[in-house]
Amino acid sequence: MSSSTSPLPSMTTKTAPGPAPNGMGNGLFATTDIKVGEDVVYAKVPFVAVLDTPRLDDTCAACFGKRQIEAGTELKACTGCRVVKYCDRTCQSKDWKFAHSLECSVFQKLKPQVLPNNGRALLRMVLRTRKGKYTAQELGIFNNLETHIQDIQEIQAHLDRINLTSKAVKDYSETDMSQEAIMAYAARLDLNSFNLTTAMYDRIGLYLHPYAALINHSCDYNATVGFDGEELYIKAVRPIKKDEQIFISYIDTTTPNEVRRKELSERYFFDCQCTKCAMGTETPEDKFSETPNDMSILETAEKQALELMQEASRSDGKPEDEIKKLESAMRILKQTSNWPLTRQPYASLRDQLIISLLSVNNFSKAFLHAAIRYLRIDPVLFSPAHPIRQLHGWILAKLAIYLSQEGFESSSKEATLIQQSELNFHYVLWYILADLASRQLESCTVPSFKRLVGANFAQVHNEFKANGMDPSTSKAIVSAEWKKLERLVQVALDKE
Ligand SMILES: [Zn+2]
Ligand SMILES: [Zn+2]
Ligand SMILES: [Zn+2]
Repeated sequence: MSSSTSPLPSMTTKTAPGPAPNGMGNGLFATTDIKVGEDVVYAKVPFVAVLDTPRLDDTCAACFGKRQIEAGTELKACTGCRVVKYCDRTCQSKDWKFAHSLECSVFQKLKPQVLPNNGRALLRMVLRTRKGKYTAQELGIFNNLETHIQDIQEIQAHLDRINLTSKAVKDYSETDMSQEAIMAYAARLDLNSFNLTTAMYDRIGLYLHPYAALINHSCDYNATVGFDGEELYIKAVRPIKKDEQIFISYIDTTTPNEVRRKELSERYFFDCQCTKCAMGTETPEDKFSETPNDMSILETAEKQALELMQEASRSDGKPEDEIKKLESAMRILKQTSNWPLTRQPYASLRDQLIISLLSVNNFSKAFLHAAIRYLRIDPVLFSPAHPIRQLHGWILAKLAIYLSQEGFESSSKEATLIQQSELNFHYVLWYILADLASRQLESCTVPSFKRLVGANFAQVHNEFKANGMDPSTSKAIVSAEWKKLERLVQVALDKE
């Protein structure tokens, strides 16, 4: 008998549901030993998946950008509603059959308004249920998912939101499903949906699969979630033994204990009992390199940094302002008791800063921050197979390609620093790509990402060969270049 089974159509898994300890309801348990990078759950078709409203304009509503990466085609709007866009007829007719034929007229009626992502997801689920498009098994698992309606009743804002969306969907869909039943759908969606992301881990929408939704949370998770188009891949980020429970993270687990537990209880209504939370503030997420006599110094600095971070995300459209705010937030932390690089919100500030720097084409500065992240931060925050490690390596490689081809903008401090290091970008690039390529099998990234890395590595490697060189046989040169990068990172950190 195969160890991969299929409790629902178009999915495979190496798990089975079962009762979970610590009042966690049901959970999924490994039915076999699972190696790092192997699929724990794979689902070809979602129960529901929709784009975030800003993405409706630039992302195909059928393949979620997967075919766009390959074909680079210009999107065409549905001629009926003009709300959703597709790569071509293939994508359009696929989505038409799946659900759009049921919702297109509703979208037309609503114009010029567009329902928010959760409203569109709810509408889809209600309409597909009415049309009998779900199997009894699928609906069975879905209807058994938690609603936490009791908890929701106590939070007025939350209740109002769910009420409003459900009422709108009931009116527009003209369904005979009761308002109460639609509210339960909305609550289940809220509680059990995943962030739909691209193969490059950018968030683009909402996704729900009832079987995958059975997986419980742990801040010390053993599996990660990824998407390739509409296909879901949940992969083992650590070796998992037969009968072990599968855990993913519902939230950013790099934050301190108090932040994690607050988010889990407010958004998911549970008190986290995981092994990491059980250690309280004795984990790297809470540690400081030196504790000052007056703890309020740390609290004040954290508060100031978080305020600046929020202001930065609100400074709409002005990346220069955003960069200034993020940099001063980082300076505040750095000057406070030598705030560790990996201690939040420091690491997140740097992530945002890199994105802002890329948006203004400040590639030298972005390269330095991306190198600091890759060498000093990620190895502490994420296990080697974690897709974030691979993604950040890929961004660093892209920056090395850019700087090796385009050179440096003149006169910036960062450009001078990089030039003084006499770094050979070609070798550094080869090394990063070789490293990423060698980890493909045991990495939790999705197939499109792996293909991109593989193709780029082959290209860079062949360019070396065309010039009569083979870095894989000149280890001494490559490792000397890597040491230069490590020194450069140290110099850059000293100057921060
Ligand atoms: Zn498409
Ligand atoms: Zn339409
Ligand atoms: Zn926890």
